[in-house]
Amino acid sequence: MKLDILTLFPEMFTGVFESSILKKAREKGAYDYQLVDFRDYTENKHRKVDDYPYGGGAGMVLTPQPLFDAVEDLKKQNQTEPRVVLLCPQGERYTQQKAEELAEEEHLVLVCGHYEGFDERVRTELATDEISIGDYVLTGGELGAMVIADSVVRLLPGVLGNEDSAVKDSFSINLLEHPHYTRPSDFRGHKVPDVLMSGNHQKIEEWRRYQSLKRTFERRPDLIDEDQLSEEDRKILKDIKKR
Ligand code: SAM
Repeated sequence: MKLDILTLFPEMFTGVFESSILKKAREKGAYDYQLVDFRDYTENKHRKVDDYPYGGGAGMVLTPQPLFDAVEDLKKQNQTEPRVVLLCPQGERYTQQKAEELAEEEHLVLVCGHYEGFDERVRTELATDEISIGDYVLTGGELGAMVIADSVVRLLPGVLGNEDSAVKDSFSINLLEHPHYTRPSDFRGHKVPDVLMSGNHQKIEEWRRYQSLKRTFERRPDLIDEDQLSEEDRKILKDIKKR
């Protein structure tokens, strides 16, 4: 995957892309990224990328010209028709399903807003998607772009080893993941459940499935789609609801 991030603050990304999975995935060749300071594309002689809103009001608005030119240049350089994702509090709320969808793309462009946000023509004529990372307002789209980059890259083939496979992560199967324990088996009197140390793999799987359903029912019942559950899971859920 090729990932381009359009931002006025490229320095914000250094630590994130130079650590952990994002760093390793790039070294393995699973993806490559480029931070594009779209100020470099402005035709304004003072290097401005924002202007006053028509109709008046507070704050500055990002002008369309530098963003259109930057995206058009990236398309030409890569010979692709990328997904162009605007980070925007008014966009579709980001989910694991959306991360899975974006992970299929060959070329992804993430556009970080600032100030009052984008001129409307950027939204209607340039973007293919608008994504919000939650119902709150950030100063800029950079943190959102980092969230999307991290969640997408870890899904790319070969990025995660078996030991930290994404398949069972929370949300990937519409359920929260089961609890995890590691050494010691007794920490200040709080013991690891016996079943996890029993060596009985079938019992361990059953315990994990039960915990996953219970946890989802207690914390995020909105995630459960009973039609997607197996007959066995529906029985377990019925039992959990009775308790
Ligand atoms: N005036 C805009 C509004 O009310 O919708 C908010 C602009 S915000 C201060 C500046 C930029 O931060 C946005 O253009 C967007 O790129 C980013 N941003 C803020 N909150 C966000 C969120 N929840 N999800 C994604 N991006 C966000």
